[in-house]
Amino acid sequence: MTTANGPVMFVAAHPDDPDFLAGGTVARLVKEGREVTYVIVTNGNKGSADRGAKSGRLTAIREEEQRRAARVLGGRRVKFNGYEDGELEDTRALRRDVTREIRRWRPDLIITLNPHRTYNNFPGWHRDHRITGRVVLDCVYPLARDDLAFPELLPEFEPHKVPEVYAVQWEQPHLVIDITDTMDLKLEAIHCHASQVGDFEAVEVRMRNRAAILGKGKGYPYAEGFDDIVVPG
Ligand SMILES: [Zn+2]
Repeated sequence: MTTANGPVMFVAAHPDDPDFLAGGTVARLVKEGREVTYVIVTNGNKGSADRGAKSGRLTAIREEEQRRAARVLGGRRVKFNGYEDGELEDTRALRRDVTREIRRWRPDLIITLNPHRTYNNFPGWHRDHRITGRVVLDCVYPLARDDLAFPELLPEFEPHKVPEVYAVQWEQPHLVIDITDTMDLKLEAIHCHASQVGDFEAVEVRMRNRAAILGKGKGYPYAEGFDDIVVPG
């Protein structure tokens, strides 16, 4: 696990991604004294199994659920970029918006989604997840670092070098983080996403099983898994 102690930024595609995919790690980092900011790229307005759901209302509900869940884990703030759920594209506007947030919050560590889809790596399945992960890596290097990228961001948002990125990875994680002490907090945060969780008991069983499988090789009762990307100086 990282030895840095500066701010952490979680860049996710949808409200609920941080809590489902890495909530135990977020809570652990907060307990270790790190300040965590969530940046949620889309508005999450397609995330409903209810065919009568109105997308504008769903956006407001999901933003509030995400704020509550972040508070449970000790997250400092949540920012929403408002891109359309399910329609994310790798555009200049998205790269500029993510670069701006990196330069604003100046993290030592970014946690984000995985840009790769394989049949066993569920966090890489969703198209918005893959695009978010890929854009974040492009912004870490070189866009947030180089002052000639997005000149319109200067002078307010000075370049920033991010030294390390954790990309959520379930298939063959390079980094397995013990979340045994924060598993209950993670479940409490997931519980906040009422619009996404129909049968919480079934979700809890699934989340405990997943965390147990990820921890097995290390002897941790519960864990989360990542690719740990150290950005060359
Ligand atoms: Zn998602």
